[in-house]
Amino acid sequence: MSVNVILLIYVCALVRCIQFWTTNVVDNYVLRFCAKRDTITAGGGESDTLAVLDEDACAQCINYNRDVIVGVKVRLSLDVCNMGKTENEAFRRALAVAERCSVPLMTHHSVSTVPTQKSLDPKATFGCPGDLRAGDIYTHTFHGYPNTIIDVNTGQVHSDVIDARSRGVLFDVGHGAGAMNWTVAELATSQNFFPDMLGSDLHLVNKDGPAYDLPTVMTKFLHLGMPLVDIINSVTSSPAKAYGIETETGSLTKGLSADVTVLKIEECDVMLEDSVGQTRNVRQRIKPIAVWREGEQIKVTVPVLWPNPDSIEKSLRQKSRQEINDDIAAGYEPRVSK
Ligand SMILES: [Zn+2]
Repeated sequence: MSVNVILLIYVCALVRCIQFWTTNVVDNYVLRFCAKRDTITAGGGESDTLAVLDEDACAQCINYNRDVIVGVKVRLSLDVCNMGKTENEAFRRALAVAERCSVPLMTHHSVSTVPTQKSLDPKATFGCPGDLRAGDIYTHTFHGYPNTIIDVNTGQVHSDVIDARSRGVLFDVGHGAGAMNWTVAELATSQNFFPDMLGSDLHLVNKDGPAYDLPTVMTKFLHLGMPLVDIINSVTSSPAKAYGIETETGSLTKGLSADVTVLKIEECDVMLEDSVGQTRNVRQRIKPIAVWREGEQIKVTVPVLWPNPDSIEKSLRQKSRQEINDDIAAGYEPRVSK
């Protein structure tokens, strides 16, 4: 069976973990993954203890597994970094090992002591995305937690975020269970700040909502006014290039893997939720019709229940934890359009 699984590895990853993955997981999958989420951890808060953030071990692991590892990920979040005490050093080591191995670093940056806008915290050692390099990837871009890309006082995208994009830092959706906030996405896209990549970050906790699947994430950005051609690039050629696999897949080019998805745009009239239970009236849906993986046709699936009222109700519990939501944004000028 032909296998092509692509992983990003946490800076703390232990060699034995990746060996488990390559033996027990990679060899049993037929689909191509660009898995960036929670692929390998040491358990608990993976960066709680600096002793496990071993640059040499991580670099060695990457070098042994270049066929399946395409980058490094670090989560900058209090709950996995000993309440913030290890965040700066975890970030420094992640940047260093990514640099040493010439791979991109992906950051998950949500409730962190590392500021989004460095100038707002003069004592800060690092800023994120301010200290990312060209080709690095800032994921979960449209969450509304304290490290949102939006300045909560003005409703504008932080200038460090705009500057990072100018430098070549890439911005991924990484929808997941908690990283898509309609208000944040509307504020950003109304300022012409669209994502470079539309990662779904799909897993058990969001496959029945609020993420559902990749076409649903694409549907949300169609609703937000992202041009269709950009949406298609953001799930094909752009991520392939970002992960350095553009000579294997990512475009309909002679000699590349015959990975093909046929999509159609279907009229609909549903209230589709974000990660915090806020809804928007979506009138067009991107739906898969047929899929081939390396030339072999694969059964197409779509969410059983779309949208899912239970998911909306569950997600609503997150709304009060957001720095930005519809209620807060109603005070901005110009008012957010619905
Ligand atoms: Zn993440």
